[in-house]
Amino acid sequence: MASVEFANVRKSFGTHPVIKGVDIEIADGEFVILVGPSGCGKSTLLRMLAGLENISAGEIRIGGQVVNGLAPKERDIAMVFQNYALYPHMTVADNMAFSLTLKGAAKAEIDKRVKPAAEILGLTHLLDRFPRQLSGGQRQRVAMGRAIVRDPQVFLFDEPLSNLDAKLRVAMRAEIKELHQRLKTTTVYVTHDQIEAMTMADKIVVMHDGIVEQIGAPLELYDQPANLFVASFIGSPA
Ligand code: ADP
Ligand code: MG
Repeated sequence: MASVEFANVRKSFGTHPVIKGVDIEIADGEFVILVGPSGCGKSTLLRMLAGLENISAGEIRIGGQVVNGLAPKERDIAMVFQNYALYPHMTVADNMAFSLTLKGAAKAEIDKRVKPAAEILGLTHLLDRFPRQLSGGQRQRVAMGRAIVRDPQVFLFDEPLSNLDAKLRVAMRAEIKELHQRLKTTTVYVTHDQIEAMTMADKIVVMHDGIVEQIGAPLELYDQPANLFVASFIGSPA
């Protein structure tokens, strides 16, 4: 069974169509990257999967279940945003535990989830710090830690590295991939950076103006681009 499916999904803002019939199937454990130029509809697609945006037509399924109409918290997903959205007045540990605290989880249960997540992300020695005391890369790790402790069926990332400097961005690509190799959680990752897509994805979905131009493994797209748009987009420097 596919972990995530988009079936003929459409979205208009007012009379303006921005997603024009999208079909994507994502297998369990796959790391899939949605890539395409700014404004092509990547974030809208991800936000619809997260339940942050209604869909105008079609169906989205997570683990075989149609999620159209389900609120974000009713979906088995965790989203990592570009701007991290950490709570400034909470420690790293409390930031990571926040979703569990909201659910009323016991302290022992919270520790049982936060500690291994912190360990995986190299945050153990920073658990008592506040976000303002952290570097950009460390904040990014806390944002990922928050997603990990929820142990969701699907991770969603929207341009998680675009606020980082070039050197850190390259290091974080490798960290996110390592994390995926370790946890094997199905991941949908949005970027406009084709280098990021080519180096990180199991499967790339190339989008352009609200449609999917091609879906394939990085080498497939490189060797056999379906059309001129894919060829020039994949082939152009970042
Ligand atoms: P991307 O993430 O690929 O840069 P978006 O999904 O953010 O693209 O946007 C796709 C299109 O939808 C753009 O033309 C954008 O202006 C439009 N759009 C996105 N969100 C809204 C909104 N809330 N209201 C109106 N138009 C929107
Ligand atoms: Mg976007």
